[in-house]
Amino acid sequence: MEIIHISAECYPMAKAGGLGDVVGALPKYQNKLGHIAKVVMPMYRTKFLYENEWELVHEGGQVLNSNWFKYSVIKEKTNKLGFDLYLVDINNLLDREKIYGYNDDTERFVSFQLAVCDWLSHWQHKPNIVHCHDHQAGLVPFFMKHCHAFRYQLADVRTVFTIHNGQYQGQFGWDKYYFIPAYDTWNWGYLDWNNAINPMASAVKCAWKVTTVSPSYMEELRHSARGLEAIFEYERGKCSGIINGIDVDVWNPETDNYLVEKFNKENVAEGKQKNKENLASQFGLDPNKPLISFIGRLVDEKAADILPEAISQSIYQYGGKANFLILGSGDPHVESQLASMNGQFKGYYNSYIGYSEPLSHIIYAGSDFLLMPSRVEPCGLNQLYALRYGTVPMVRNIGGLKDTVVDFGNENGYGIKMEQSSVWDIVYSTGRAIDLFYNQKDRLDEMRKYMMDIDNSWDSSAQHYLDLYQSIL
Ligand code: ADP
Repeated sequence: MEIIHISAECYPMAKAGGLGDVVGALPKYQNKLGHIAKVVMPMYRTKFLYENEWELVHEGGQVLNSNWFKYSVIKEKTNKLGFDLYLVDINNLLDREKIYGYNDDTERFVSFQLAVCDWLSHWQHKPNIVHCHDHQAGLVPFFMKHCHAFRYQLADVRTVFTIHNGQYQGQFGWDKYYFIPAYDTWNWGYLDWNNAINPMASAVKCAWKVTTVSPSYMEELRHSARGLEAIFEYERGKCSGIINGIDVDVWNPETDNYLVEKFNKENVAEGKQKNKENLASQFGLDPNKPLISFIGRLVDEKAADILPEAISQSIYQYGGKANFLILGSGDPHVESQLASMNGQFKGYYNSYIGYSEPLSHIIYAGSDFLLMPSRVEPCGLNQLYALRYGTVPMVRNIGGLKDTVVDFGNENGYGIKMEQSSVWDIVYSTGRAIDLFYNQKDRLDEMRKYMMDIDNSWDSSAQHYLDLYQSIL
């Protein structure tokens, strides 16, 4: 079957978090399983754009806010990603360096979706599945089913909507009703939630199937979804959770060129130690102590705000027996707190405030523990990368973390789990990590080997998506 993924992110063209990783990997695995999967996304001005060759495949026009705009679609020439990648360009809207964070993000992503629907309506053979990811593609199911400009061509094409993060819904006021192309006005309810146009709510109502990136997160959304709880309850019949996989070609400690020492499960202890020594010399830490790291967006969802307190307390309480390292960016207040601790806890703690793909690989490889005390975690990929690199995940028991990590106190367990996102839980878990590192070396070694053997690749998850598509065709 033929599938087109519509997304705001796709690694390596543009990635801000897990969405980019998923959309950069899932289509590749769907192609490997004998299908044709493609991706369409905005043409941001990123390094990947300038370093690759493209060909023009379509040009067209659409209307937003009574203004006609021209768009073009280009395609990466060599299929080097394992799937066809298409980029949509719209002057003055999508030609930016960053993915999000502009005042006109609503205009940017609505016009992107209009352009994609217009382009799709020109395809001679329609795709079997239009797979929309997160709210930046959330209006597409409504446009395809209800808007006069597209429904004649696209209403029968099956749509799937995947929620990677329900916190961001893309809602905007009805004063911008003219962003939506003409439709029969009695269908306005398909756009509305709490007196606003809500792309995420609209997608849940209009898509043929809705998925989240883990089964536990689907359950949690029915109780806590930033005001959308009821809709997940009403629509539960078409909702399901499919756990993300990881791209095992990109995330492979045996072939990872970012590492000073590549390793596999046979030499995991020595391999990790070499990588830790490299990190320790770069960040002024002690390679003989356990290294507990955090990688991620410094936002409330990830409980980044409690990290400064939890780390300081852990360092005092355990007399500096563990080292901490942070890689992240986000809330400026948390950023400055974490950066200011570099001097205060020299030799025990350090941080790199910013985004660095290479450093993230080196930290997954060189750390002993990866801390994820998240308040919300739809799936979480970091813990899956940690497992692949023999790093023990220290995670809150929620969302995808609940589904993918088993506490080492249980049979066949390999992680450290905490019930709450609290300073106390992090300090307590740090104590367990320290004990495991110094007093249970054999157990830690066994756990590392066991973790590296777990298959979290896309192979089975990609098949689950194909089964889901099949159920609506
Ligand atoms: P989310 O999508 O909520 O941010 P996920 O765990 O699903 O969280 O995915 C996070 C992805 O982003 C991982 O690939 C992680 O390595 C990467 N990442 C997050 N912050 C940074 C950073 N500062 N530098 C490099 N990679 C990062």
